[in-house]
Amino acid sequence: MPELPELEILKSELNVHVVGRRVQEVIISEGKEDGCSVSGLKAAVEGAAILQVERRGKMLILHLDSGFSLLIHLMMVGQLLLSSLCDSERKDVRLILRFAGDELTLGQVALRFVRLVPTSELDELPELKKLGREPLSDDFTPEVLERVLTKRRGRLKSFLLNQSHIAGIGNTYADEILFRAGIAPTRGVSSLKGHEIERLHTSIVETLQQGLELGGSSEMAFVHLDGSKGSFQDHFRVKRRKGEPCFVCGAPIEKTALGGRGTYFCPQCQR
Ligand SMILES: [Zn+2]
Repeated sequence: MPELPELEILKSELNVHVVGRRVQEVIISEGKEDGCSVSGLKAAVEGAAILQVERRGKMLILHLDSGFSLLIHLMMVGQLLLSSLCDSERKDVRLILRFAGDELTLGQVALRFVRLVPTSELDELPELKKLGREPLSDDFTPEVLERVLTKRRGRLKSFLLNQSHIAGIGNTYADEILFRAGIAPTRGVSSLKGHEIERLHTSIVETLQQGLELGGSSEMAFVHLDGSKGSFQDHFRVKRRKGEPCFVCGAPIEKTALGGRGTYFCPQCQR
């Protein structure tokens, strides 16, 4: 699933390539779509210009000058492609925003994960209100992380995946963050010492930053607007490396299920 770095990359690319442009036509795929407000979509988006693109957690928000905003969650394998940058095959297209000369397509994700919301009501939207701290923002300090951790229960891996604590981290980056921090995913949140919280904070910021610099992880379906892939998956230290030797200590990387999620870790380096 695309996580914070991948969505941040798409946000930046959309701000370069589609902001300021007017949507001439909206094309919605045929098919049964539970819970999607497609009826209002054409009316609110056709003829509107895109003012700005934001990211919150794993969600992209396209602000339109019609007073509406379009929220897009790419779920597991969703793709956004811009036809003027990308001539590769577009799979399972569900939504097309057509501009003068090119079009933005959304594929491989059900339309119920696209929502149209009056921009004035965004702050009150439950799925945005419940989002926790943005880990690459300037105000995400070790002290803030310590406060977020305080009085929480459960295991550290589940804590990192909970979007209401820290927004934007998913199953891939969580395992890489914990390996780089040298902390076992099974550790109880309340057991972390001060120096471990510092290490965890550093690892969260540096791992997400590395993901960004490497163009994101294309381990699954993530591609840039031009169809190109990121390369963070070539730098995985534990993810998808079950049984392979740890790059640091040589012990075989292990995989376990935590909260129903496949979790990779080094039994020697992570304590
Ligand atoms: Zn190791």
